[in-house]
Amino acid sequence: MKHLLISFLFFIASFSFAQNSRTIDFTKAKAKVLILPSQQKVSGTINYTFNAVQNDTIKIDKRDSEITYFRINNVEWDVDSDQFKKEKILIPIEASVDYQLEMTYKASPKKAMYFLKQGDDWNIWTQGQGKYTSNWLPSFDDVNEKVEFDLTISATEGYEVIANGKLKEKKCVAGFCEWKYDMKKPMSSYLVALAIGKYKKQLETSKSGISLEYYYYPEDSLKVEPTYRYSKEMFDFLEEEIGFAYPWQNYKQVPVHDFLYAGMENTSLTIFSDAYVIDSIGFNDKNYVNVNAHELAHQWFGDLVTAKSGEHHWLQEGFATYYALLAERHIFGKDYFYFKLYESAYNLGRQDISGEGTSLLNPKSSSLTFYQRGAWVLHALRSIVGDEVFREAVVNYLEKHQFANVETSDFMVEVERLYGRSLTDFVSFWIMQKEFPYDQAFELLKKQSPYVNEYMMIDCKVKTSKCAEQLKYNISDDAKVKIISQTPEIVTSDTFKNSLKVRQAISKYVIKIPKAIKEDYETLLEDKSYLTIENALYNLWTNFPEDRATYLSKTRNIVGFNDNNVRLLWLVLNLNTPFYQADNKQGLYEELVSYTDKSYNADLRINAFRYLDLIKSCNDKCLSNLEQAKSHHNWRLVKFAKQMSEQVQQNKK
Ligand SMILES: [Zn+2]
Repeated sequence: MKHLLISFLFFIASFSFAQNSRTIDFTKAKAKVLILPSQQKVSGTINYTFNAVQNDTIKIDKRDSEITYFRINNVEWDVDSDQFKKEKILIPIEASVDYQLEMTYKASPKKAMYFLKQGDDWNIWTQGQGKYTSNWLPSFDDVNEKVEFDLTISATEGYEVIANGKLKEKKCVAGFCEWKYDMKKPMSSYLVALAIGKYKKQLETSKSGISLEYYYYPEDSLKVEPTYRYSKEMFDFLEEEIGFAYPWQNYKQVPVHDFLYAGMENTSLTIFSDAYVIDSIGFNDKNYVNVNAHELAHQWFGDLVTAKSGEHHWLQEGFATYYALLAERHIFGKDYFYFKLYESAYNLGRQDISGEGTSLLNPKSSSLTFYQRGAWVLHALRSIVGDEVFREAVVNYLEKHQFANVETSDFMVEVERLYGRSLTDFVSFWIMQKEFPYDQAFELLKKQSPYVNEYMMIDCKVKTSKCAEQLKYNISDDAKVKIISQTPEIVTSDTFKNSLKVRQAISKYVIKIPKAIKEDYETLLEDKSYLTIENALYNLWTNFPEDRATYLSKTRNIVGFNDNNVRLLWLVLNLNTPFYQADNKQGLYEELVSYTDKSYNADLRINAFRYLDLIKSCNDKCLSNLEQAKSHHNWRLVKFAKQMSEQVQQNKK
């Protein structure tokens, strides 16, 4: 999984105890599920096959679902009895193989399955990790129970239904279509997923022959290329780099409306936020490349081998982060790679200073620790043991534990065996101890990357610094950004001749615009970056009141990202520019208020609420939308709505 805002979020560990010390093993599930979006209901039948090595108790998590029929082999159970009213079904079983269990159920899932509206159409999707698939499909709130889940899903005709595995058959009768998906291998319940919506798809085939399916909303055909850019390249690269063939039948990626995270690596079916569905300008600011690579890497690290418990969560997130970085190095080069490592080491160091650092094996670690420190461990380890040992150890680790569960020692044992020496010190230093080995990380980077070295040498805060000259030299873009952030006043006309990235830094840090660079600054409004345009529009409008109408008319048709960043700013600035388009102010205000409506995505709504609050113009409609937002499925919107509504109440008093 990848969070949209990593530094603010902490992973919620979602693990429970294993099915009685593995004496019971569920092997197969055949589930038929009917989705009724208008009632926000699910019903279905599941057939489970399981074995019991000795007399024991089976456990199935069903949350609030109502069980309407239950049978084990030929024995039917009274579903009105107490044991079917609890969240977990517990039934004693005698040792035997090939038990057949059949049940039917009904559920109105409050989480893990979400029914969203996009205009007149439904967009339905699931999120198992951290939310429990058992909310919509009786299954196992236990990552250690791996089952081959074959889903057959019925939904209204006209919608596309996407689930784990390969589509075997689609039948339509009387306005409903049944989509039969087939898996060949087992997975943990949290990786079971489906997405339903109005979609089209583009297909590619990997070098190894795996079908890659890129889904998109019908109106987004022009965004397919920038959104999915480098997908096949990264797929081919990771298969070769990992050295272990992609373990599933195909790979599907589906954007969904108002997703909870950046992306989620459901087995063979990555679901990601449609905020990453971008045009070629958005690509420069906020592309899907990193999330794409991260979720793909999870198909091995997380889906094929799954951490036994929260303690070993880094075996998922650290590996996914590290391999995503390798894929990005393949595309963007080694300077990019080392600079990202530099940034994460820097952030980990700051986390320690603020007293929030933890051991990598602490299940309550921050995302920063699980993801970035985890990736750093692998980078440092590889630097010590060498490429060959590292890659072979990874292959052995995957081969030995495929379709099963792992802990940290399972991986380290493989590395030690090939390395031929103990790595106990490495483990205690890099993995176990609370502090991130900041100094060692920087020493390593200095040795490995002249690029990072150059960057680290720059410090415009010292009196003897030569930043003004350095800005003119042939130093890296990242180094120039650092200089501009520290000393925005030294920006000259010449500085504007730099890349998009450096120009973006100008728009961000040069807030007071000297007359001498006014004309250069105005050219930022034409950059292929929605962030640059947003910053520049605001700063120009503030610095040069006499030219406000010019700036507004230049940017009037730009919307920006899917949170309408440029459009919302434009509306607010326009409302505060009395003489510009004076007769249309009411219409513009209503447009701004309309973005607080529930039909829009959470980020856009937060943005609109924030602006309306800022200009103290949250009217009745806005207030009622704010009230309604408090029960949204996205906790960031809920938190925001509660805070803002409290603020509004206080202001009234
Ligand atoms: Zn992840």
